[in-house]
Amino acid sequence: MLAARLENLVPAHIKKFEAYTPSKPDDVLMKLYRCDRLFRLNNNENPLGPPPSAREIIQGFPPPHASVYPSGDAYHLRYRLAENFGLNPDQILVGNGANEVIGFVIKAFCSEGDNIITADKTFAVYEWVAEFSGFEARLTPLIDFAFDDQAMLSRIDNRTKIIFLCNPNNPTGTYWNDAKLRRFLDTVDGGQIVVVDEAYCEFVEKEDYPDGVALLAEYPNLVVFRTFSKMYALAGLRIGYLAAATDVVEIIRRTCVVYSVNGVAQAAALAALGDDDHIRRSREMVREGKAFLTRELSNLGLKTVSGEGNFMMVQTPVSDTLMYRKLMGRGVMIRSMTGFRYPGWIRVTISHMNALEAFVESLHVTLREFQ
Ligand SMILES: *Cc1c(COP(=O)(O)O)cnc(C)c1O
Repeated sequence: MLAARLENLVPAHIKKFEAYTPSKPDDVLMKLYRCDRLFRLNNNENPLGPPPSAREIIQGFPPPHASVYPSGDAYHLRYRLAENFGLNPDQILVGNGANEVIGFVIKAFCSEGDNIITADKTFAVYEWVAEFSGFEARLTPLIDFAFDDQAMLSRIDNRTKIIFLCNPNNPTGTYWNDAKLRRFLDTVDGGQIVVVDEAYCEFVEKEDYPDGVALLAEYPNLVVFRTFSKMYALAGLRIGYLAAATDVVEIIRRTCVVYSVNGVAQAAALAALGDDDHIRRSREMVREGKAFLTRELSNLGLKTVSGEGNFMMVQTPVSDTLMYRKLMGRGVMIRSMTGFRYPGWIRVTISHMNALEAFVESLHVTLREFQ
């Protein structure tokens, strides 16, 4: 198509938006960086893999079922989640990963001229979906690595539709406790939809960490996100969900295209639920891994930031994008944080000890090169 004519068809907010570049497949990366191993510590995946009950479902999925459309509203999964949470099944909406439900909520509530509020250094998809949909994303700076409630409240105006809070925050691991979240919701007082993204809630062991789902009964404007990608290790199957009041879900449901969640994902998620042993083992691995990294990285003189969740931030004396390439050359993939507005930092997923040892060793070698 003629460049000038194509240009005419593109809205201004798409013109200025830059597409996300996903990482290349393992085999391609290993050739590119000439390494014979690859530890993926960039996406906060759970290296223990799915719980045994979910593995069984994946393995036993009857091939003929591939020809049949899945349940369009994840019927059985919603009923089970509702039963577990003491909710009505109509309070749950399942999507192709939590990423998809972000889009549902923004489409449901925003129209031209509206805005959303979130932090500048958090999961970037809230901001991206808002901006490529033509809505302003108001970003407030973190304070002590945490979401700043006062700053967010001060940015609300009569065109603000949604406030996104990531609890605990990816990448800093900070969280709002129950009292702070309640105070915030009390102040917003139903004026906006408040989304609390709890992608990492299953990793949190702190007593004062709020259960967003339990707060739904008190706050009719609250929307909670959960995912099967992180603790339940089903990232490859793409399944997550939101929970909210029935009338809110009824509105959001209008914006979703049916059948985006495949049948294997629905069945595996259902099976994965409530495997307490899997959760216990995963938490243990994360606890040990964090202790190991904290000790080793402090020995290397590096500053770390870690709180809740299966990840940790590390400050590097060389540029984070250069560090990414250096570590890739040794078969260790981390997340460089320039894209999170944290230049000079990397984020590493807490994994098995052999992977973390490889990371520390590679970091050590790289730092020596630059001394
Ligand atoms: C990983 C992640 C998600 C997305 O999860 P999917 O269900 O895989 O789309 C959402 N929010 C945060 C904060 C995450 O880290």
